Amino acid sequence: MTHVTKRIFGIDLGTTNSCLAVMEAGGPRVIAIEGEPIVPSVVGLDRQTGRFLVGRRARNRQVLEPAWTVRSVKRRMGETARVRLGDRELLPEEVSAEILRYLKEQGEAALGEPVERAVITVPAYFGDAQRRATIRAGELAGLEVVRILNEPTAAALVYDRLVARKVEPQAVEAAPAPAGTALAVPGRRAGADVQRVLVYDLGGGTFDVSVVEIGGGINEVRASCGNNQLGGDDFDRLLADHLAAHLRQRTGRDLPEDLRLRARLEDAAERAKIDLSSRPYAQVTEEALVGGFHLNLEVDRPSFEELIDGLLASTLAEVDRALSEARLTAKQIDLVILVGGSTHVPRVRELLAGRFSCPVEHAVDPALCVALGAAVQGAILAGQVFDHILVDVAAHSLGIKTLDHASEGGFWGRPRANHFSTIIQRNTQVPATRSEVFRTLLDDQKSVAVEVYQGESARCSENTLVGHFPFKLLPAPAGSPVVVEFRYDLDGVIRVIVHQKGTDNRQEVTLSTRMREPAPAAVAAGTAGAVENYILRKARALTASLPAGELRERLAAAAESYEEVLADAEAGPTEVDPAEEELLELLQEAEEAAVGL
Ligand code: ADP
Ligand code: MG
Repeated sequence: MTHVTKRIFGIDLGTTNSCLAVMEAGGPRVIAIEGEPIVPSVVGLDRQTGRFLVGRRARNRQVLEPAWTVRSVKRRMGETARVRLGDRELLPEEVSAEILRYLKEQGEAALGEPVERAVITVPAYFGDAQRRATIRAGELAGLEVVRILNEPTAAALVYDRLVARKVEPQAVEAAPAPAGTALAVPGRRAGADVQRVLVYDLGGGTFDVSVVEIGGGINEVRASCGNNQLGGDDFDRLLADHLAAHLRQRTGRDLPEDLRLRARLEDAAERAKIDLSSRPYAQVTEEALVGGFHLNLEVDRPSFEELIDGLLASTLAEVDRALSEARLTAKQIDLVILVGGSTHVPRVRELLAGRFSCPVEHAVDPALCVALGAAVQGAILAGQVFDHILVDVAAHSLGIKTLDHASEGGFWGRPRANHFSTIIQRNTQVPATRSEVFRTLLDDQKSVAVEVYQGESARCSENTLVGHFPFKLLPAPAGSPVVVEFRYDLDGVIRVIVHQKGTDNRQEVTLSTRMREPAPAAVAAGTAGAVENYILRKARALTASLPAGELRERLAAAAESYEEVLADAEAGPTEVDPAEEELLELLQEAEEAAVGL
């Protein structure tokens, strides 16, 4: 990388949050501002000092000083009507300029170098007046706006650079290799240079969906739709209503109409919502609310999803509209990229994965991706040379084996299980912690086998076994929840914590995802892998416990022929799979007989 004297920074000037990034060796990096990667796009005016406050500080004061605070000014960009902020009246771009000035000053303090030139992103649907207002905002903040870039294009650019790396492997050797895993782009058709990417961007207060063509130096937005009054704030509002209804019901009292009470509820709702993106339950505890209310409620993910389902359905309608505007069908899309903080909600990805046959990927980090893309564009404009982007991500999805694909994870307990229930998605930035809930199959089930796999197939048998261990259960009825948490760190070490909900029965096991051969390869080489050994051990144990009879004979015979195929170095999946299927069928039958089903 050639260092230019003045780097060109990337700025995502968002409706809800803004973010500053810059290209460094190996890849674009977000500059933390006062310890946080994103800055709330909120501007306040201090009535005593007459000074502006920006970001978290302004947002925290909003409840107390609503008239002295402006948020979501981006919606007003390009309008000539002034915005009231305390005793002043400002043009929307003057308010935006305060956000940009704050990013510039804080960025300079963090980096010890001037932040002067920038690429600023705007929504694809922004018209000329809105773009001009954005440039003026930059100038007022003392920035040279080198380019205005469409947000979906910025998001897609990060991916475009990742492709460049795949196409020219020799470039990798020429470049320094900082710690990190290369982010692979799945589903890319080799040789096809123009890709059609659907960018689904769900932020705090706006939803944008665009169809972008990238590759071969072309970056073109073919269609752009959305709803500029829909986003994560609405999720918070609905969840806050739910919390209020719970309080009303529990106390039998009406809640006072109070701005501060409402703000506390919405804050609690946002925290719970964010929790629910990485775990199945969230605990909402708010003591001493206005009116002497105490709130203590557990919210589970399905209840939250039910609240927001209508809103998510309306985003899918916009997706269809964007496709038809671009004159494309869902099948013609090569990749769906998820952008915006609200796409962390797992249901979003689920819905889109059901709608498209191509990969649906979280952008590097949905909340930061637009700024990272702007930094990539900045580096290109500054003539910085780089070939690829490296980020620390999980290179494979990680999950456990379950019986099937139930709405809440899956059920456990039968050997025939082969469904791969993902807990950490591939390309998730690491370190990452995620948990999911699974349910027991039988009344007073004795234990569950926790089998951890990595890979992208929906069938565990086609993925790689990372490790397995049994988890003993306390007596509980069938369908009881067991929470499985994965903590995945930079070194490929994964900590698995299993917890029987409502009890203090928990177990923690550390596994390594390093240096594992895919299971099918191990089978083909004539050596039984851990899964196969597990099946065989189980078969032998069950054979021993069964009373003499036809079932026992058949099980013993099936186990023997399975062992034979495994030992045969020539045997491939066509021989192994039927033998395994047969043995697993019998195992299930035997298990059911053993528990008296
Ligand atoms: P914008 O582009 O509108 O400026 P962002 O892309 O930063 O906004 O998204 C902000 C929204 O994302 C907020 O509503 C915030 O609550 C939501 N959000 C952030 N992280 C998560 C998460 N882990 N799960 C669910 N929502 C999240
Ligand atoms: Mg955004």
